[in-house]
Amino acid sequence: MNELAKGAVESITRLKAGHSGEESAREINISAVRSAVNTVESTLGPRGKDKLIEQRDGEVLVTNDAETILSKTVVDNPAAVLTIDVAKAVGREYRDGTTTAVLLTGALLDEAEALLDQGVTPTKIARGYDQGQTLSTGALDDLAEPVDPTSETVHHVAETAMAGNSVGGDREKLAELVVSATESVRDGGRIDTTHVQIVTQTGQPISHSKVIQGAALTADPVRQSMPNSVEGGQVLLTTDPVQLSDTRLETSIDIEDAESFHRFFDRESEEIRGLVDKILDVGADAVLCSGSIADEAQSVLSLNDILAVRQVDNEMLSTAAAVLGGSVVSSVPEVTVEDLGTGRLQRDENDELFLASGGGAARATIVLRGPTQQVVDELKHHVESGLEVVAGAMDGGAVTGGGATELELARQIRDAAQGVVGREHLAVEAFADALEGVPKTLAENVGLKPIDAILSLRTAHDSGDCWMGIDASGTLADQRKANVIEPVCVKQQAISSAVEAAILVLRIDDVLTVDELSETL
Ligand code: ADP
Ligand code: MG
Repeated sequence: MNELAKGAVESITRLKAGHSGEESAREINISAVRSAVNTVESTLGPRGKDKLIEQRDGEVLVTNDAETILSKTVVDNPAAVLTIDVAKAVGREYRDGTTTAVLLTGALLDEAEALLDQGVTPTKIARGYDQGQTLSTGALDDLAEPVDPTSETVHHVAETAMAGNSVGGDREKLAELVVSATESVRDGGRIDTTHVQIVTQTGQPISHSKVIQGAALTADPVRQSMPNSVEGGQVLLTTDPVQLSDTRLETSIDIEDAESFHRFFDRESEEIRGLVDKILDVGADAVLCSGSIADEAQSVLSLNDILAVRQVDNEMLSTAAAVLGGSVVSSVPEVTVEDLGTGRLQRDENDELFLASGGGAARATIVLRGPTQQVVDELKHHVESGLEVVAGAMDGGAVTGGGATELELARQIRDAAQGVVGREHLAVEAFADALEGVPKTLAENVGLKPIDAILSLRTAHDSGDCWMGIDASGTLADQRKANVIEPVCVKQQAISSAVEAAILVLRIDDVLTVDELSETL
């Protein structure tokens, strides 16, 4: 059972306990979804408003992320839980398109409710929605344009993904960081976003953020007396603490008297000395360790002019290993020369970072700065979204945003619906109407009258202006010329998650009604 389905089953069980009246479970579910959708729709698009959420512990959170808003506000509301799953499903992959997906779920269910009133069965609606989805996939393929990895389009894609108030005037800067980082790790037209590391620092303006080629480590050298840089040196990377650990003690020692106390220290000393000798023997000029380094080991390493850094974050350690072409070893006694990385390690005192660069794999680090942790966390969310979206656009092409694509899909699906026989025809048309929920909400959020905006857009699209959409300033304009560009994959994912969730909600009542449930109580 997938995640969405699990959510639905949970809804039924909870519903059992709560209702036995006249209203059908389906109606209750649809209205629960509608109220969840209402909490996020005002956040959609460049003029969307952030939500201020007061949490149980009194902390205040400002966000426009649908998953966060729903997770904090939907409490014990049966089918509405499903909207959180929709947001999660979309957010997990691209960290974008979550509000759109939730909104579409609500729109599909609103349309379905009208059809149910006309006597169309849930099964027919589900079939029509499935057809609508197939048609939209085909139409999206036709509309998609490949993205040249070296073109300005990449920048536009990143900027569009960072719509929303919280980014405000920093959108340009953040998009630059994303483009520069992805360019550094690009392999032809492919980007592995795990090759970009994000390091956050507070107490500085956002404009001081930057991209570093290679790895960055936010740790300090263990001794001031050690060299603070290594040029073309051999670097040992390990998760094994350079200290005496339980696993290294062959037998336990009971410290009962002064003699056994000394024996213990001798043993400890011997053990640590063994580890340091191994480091010296293998020819390391620097040690990057995710664990601790004992005092005694620090002294000997320092005396031998070896740079040592401890408590290095594991992800940073792996990135450094890739950049330096070495391997992270889990046991110092077993290290070999082949495990060592080679390259440059340099302490940047201003940035309070160690930078690692070498002839290994291409990696980039975005050093993201902001005044407070809360600001930096929100920016990080946008940057992560920018990275995924740029990678997705290069991989599968892009379409225009600002509601233009949804409007065009709706037009093409309505045309195709003419060929669908029976009552499913109505459901395919309803699917097209639901897609228009996106431009409708964008219109509302920029202060336009949604109905008027949709009618004007329909006229434009009917006459061949397939990129006509809604601008951040509230004018209807060619969104391709306005450089509002989004990856096809995000649109695709938002539509398919919404269809899956809407059909689930519709089907729940197919097999169980509140009356039936109360009989079984
Ligand atoms: P989501 O969580 O669905 O990504 P957003 O709040 O990011 O929600 O809004 C995305 C919508 O905003 C998309 O339809 C996108 O095309 C639109 N959008 C983003 N930037 C602009 C812009 N500059 N002008 C018009 N529409 C925009
Ligand atoms: Mg977005």
